[in-house]
Amino acid sequence: MNGPGIHLTLAPELRLFAPPARRAERVPTATDGASSLGHVVESAGVPLTEVGRLLVDGREEPFSYVPRPGESVEVLGVDRPQQVAGAPLRFLLDVHLGTLARRMRLLGVDAAYENEDIGDPALATRSADERRVLLSRDRGLLRRREIFAGAYVYSDNPDEQLRDVLGRFAPALAPWTRCTACNGTLRDADKESVGDRLQSGTHRSYDVFAQCTSCERVYWRGAHHARLERIVTDAVEEFGGVAAP
Ligand SMILES: [Zn+2]
Repeated sequence: MNGPGIHLTLAPELRLFAPPARRAERVPTATDGASSLGHVVESAGVPLTEVGRLLVDGREEPFSYVPRPGESVEVLGVDRPQQVAGAPLRFLLDVHLGTLARRMRLLGVDAAYENEDIGDPALATRSADERRVLLSRDRGLLRRREIFAGAYVYSDNPDEQLRDVLGRFAPALAPWTRCTACNGTLRDADKESVGDRLQSGTHRSYDVFAQCTSCERVYWRGAHHARLERIVTDAVEEFGGVAAP
């Protein structure tokens, strides 16, 4: 240790980000006397998007606080549900989260996603320009300063990813109001107006109910795969908050 030392305690849910040797309570941590707490926490491997409050000897301090020798720093996780100030709640997902994006759209949550990898700088810029919460499992991406807001996605299982995001941000749910293919909003449609877009079997069997205002894809009642119905039912049951149709 070549500078004034502090003691760092990460909240249990944040310890997976740290190397094993730094996952205990009150880990002696070297600081250079000039670095901010934000820098110290990032150096321990924790993305700042995952940090709620910082307690220094029990009092709350900002990321910019420069810790003094002998102080004890407690790093707490974000509150759930987490409030995102300054914009309607909407999201941007990185290239690895396509399944999660489609499930969020199924529930009516605004979830932008690019099928191709546009690269970290472009994603971060889009997050800033459109004020979207960037969801990723890439810590390097979440460390980019320009992002509007971000969140680490903790699981690689789409079911758990969806529960994680819904529990963390509590977005209003409006199932079947958004295009799962492109994130556009759906408008009511009848069979006559979109008849030429349907195959004859579909035309006979189903009543059209919606069309995407953006890509014009047609959706119809009765054609939902049972798996999709189950995703909607489970999410509404657990996270509620269904918006008026
Ligand atoms: Zn669409």
